[in-house]
Amino acid sequence: MNTEVRGDTEVLSGKPLAALIQQRAHDQTALLDDQGLRPVLAVVVATDDESTHWYVRSIERAAGRAGIGCRIIDLGHDATEQVLASVLTDLSAEPGVHGIILQTPLPASVHADRLVGLIAPEKDIDGANPLSLGRLAVGQPAFAPATAQAVVELLEHFEVPVAGRNVTVVGRSAVVGKPLSLLLLEKDATVTICHSKSGELERYTRPADVVVVAAGRTGLLKGSHVSANAVVIDVGTNVLPDGSLVGDVDEASVTGVAAGLSPVPGGVGSVTTALLLLHTVEAARQQSHATLLTASTSRI
Ligand code: NAP
Repeated sequence: MNTEVRGDTEVLSGKPLAALIQQRAHDQTALLDDQGLRPVLAVVVATDDESTHWYVRSIERAAGRAGIGCRIIDLGHDATEQVLASVLTDLSAEPGVHGIILQTPLPASVHADRLVGLIAPEKDIDGANPLSLGRLAVGQPAFAPATAQAVVELLEHFEVPVAGRNVTVVGRSAVVGKPLSLLLLEKDATVTICHSKSGELERYTRPADVVVVAAGRTGLLKGSHVSANAVVIDVGTNVLPDGSLVGDVDEASVTGVAAGLSPVPGGVGSVTTALLLLHTVEAARQQSHATLLTASTSRI
């Protein structure tokens, strides 16, 4: 594998893996196309935040390249919970839509936890419905949140073993830290989860073979927090006042200490978008299969 190395630290770029996953999504879409089925992803947006709109447009462009339909439903920053609920309920019931994302941030007045529960589990391609998280917890099939899965895929792509290894995850959100910890546990890692009340992080990160940081705090993880040979995956995305994007890892001090570090941008984020597309294609395939089964059983 052709990889960049900075001061003994391998740069774990997500871009080549993202390209492979996009190609897989494209190939599978072509197969479905032969059967007259075009996967469609719906993205529900309710914010004025320019960086969110930029991100959603990047999903739309990537979907187009993979032959996947993408419907952006922009309800405006003042959308009510009632309107959001009704749109999600309709999309969940619409046969022509196979995947649904409820994009954050959402208006402060709405209860995001209630809304994600309205996304039909079979269309919940970003694992937002608590049912999906529950299924992951008991090892049943479900779409994992794409970011959490992107971390696991990135580790596998760079052949970083996790079975029997100590992995420390910094962050315990329902969209990243918790599902990621469940996925790693499923892969036989010994997982330690840290959060804002954990105290000195180095107590948990220094003994770790792999450290994943998903806290949304610029410069949280420094070189002194990790041991040599550790692999560090940076999930954080923080926008600096000058508009540039950085992660949670103090790249300057970790470079030269850790064995590998994923960059921001160009690390986990690019893999995440590609996985959203692959999940949409898989959802479309599963739903068409379920429809065929229902049709054939009703004829018996
Ligand atoms: P979140 O809901 O705000 O959760 C942050 C987590 O980090 C919480 O569990 C919090 O602990 C913990 N935390 C905060 N400060 C800490 C500290 N000083 N020490 C240890 N733990 C600390 O955020 P999220 O949605 O999980 O996202 C995390 C980061 O990932 C953000 O930067 C986000 O933008 C990024 N992200 C990236 C992608 C991608 O595709 N690249 C996708 C999703 C999210 P408590 O639970 O105690 O509050």
